[in-house]
Amino acid sequence: MMEDKQELEWEDIVERDMERALEDGEFQIFFQPKVNMLTSHIYGAEALSRWIHHDRGLIPPDKFIPIFEKNGFIKKLDMYVFERVCRYKAEWKGRNYEHIIISVNLSRENIQAKELPDALFGICEKYGVPAGEIEIEITENVFIKDSSELISFVDRLKELGFGVSIDDFGSGYSSLNMLRNVDTDVVKIDKDFLNMTKDDVRGRRILKYIIGMCKELKLDVVVEGIETWEQINMILGYGCENAQGFFYSKPINIDEFEKFADEYSMIMN
Ligand code: C2E
Ligand code: CA
Ligand code: CA
Repeated sequence: MMEDKQELEWEDIVERDMERALEDGEFQIFFQPKVNMLTSHIYGAEALSRWIHHDRGLIPPDKFIPIFEKNGFIKKLDMYVFERVCRYKAEWKGRNYEHIIISVNLSRENIQAKELPDALFGICEKYGVPAGEIEIEITENVFIKDSSELISFVDRLKELGFGVSIDDFGSGYSSLNMLRNVDTDVVKIDKDFLNMTKDDVRGRRILKYIIGMCKELKLDVVVEGIETWEQINMILGYGCENAQGFFYSKPINIDEFEKFADEYSMIMN
């Protein structure tokens, strides 16, 4: 009961403050590098929101994203993040990491907006960013009912040149039909998959065969939540080289990210 009351109070605080916070630039974009485990080179990054509140300090996404998903404000935030990412990318012209792929999360609420893919493309054009350098992450649970609406949304994104990934794969009730019907490029395997005990033989086999299946389907696979050497060796052994996890870097602010990207980019001509 007590908890419910606190939650409702928190929701009220968030709702009262969110518009102002967006205008005041309190939402910042942190980047978490995606790394090739064989070469340790960065090949991409995920954009993740942080609310740096003038009074309360850093508020993590799990304290505001679910509330924004309920009240619809997530649409505004996701657009803001997308545009800010394009602006950063435009600023990176001439740097050795200018072309790395940045992925942006889109919440379920956005998928209903048919015109959204074209609007996103318009933002890319405004900043001179090729759509192929942006990947859209859509979480697995959105795909469960593989509606024709969702399929055409993803198809339009792909026609425009965006990459599309299924996020949190394996976290919910994954339907294999989803891999048949929805034309994505990347599967991100959920970090909970790595939280296995040493003798979870079945869990390891499932992971191995998911990676193998994705490769057969010509889908890129990224494993999220890599924290240890042991996990790196296991995942490399299963044939996946791409990782995102605290072992390489936590989500970091723009200054730290630019340093990281500069240091770990392949030199490109
Ligand atoms: P996500 O999209 O699955 O993002 C990955 C989350 O996993 C991030 O949490 C990241 O910090 C965490 N993570 C990555 N590697 C590791 C690891 O090795 N160990 C552990 N323990 N965690 C790791 P974060 O930044 O707290 O974000 C939480 C969720 O909030 C995201 O999960 C995403 O669903 C949502 N989110 C964040 N920013 C946005 C946004 O701008 N728009 C939307 N729609 N959702 C967002
Ligand atoms: Ca994500
Ligand atoms: Ca994820």
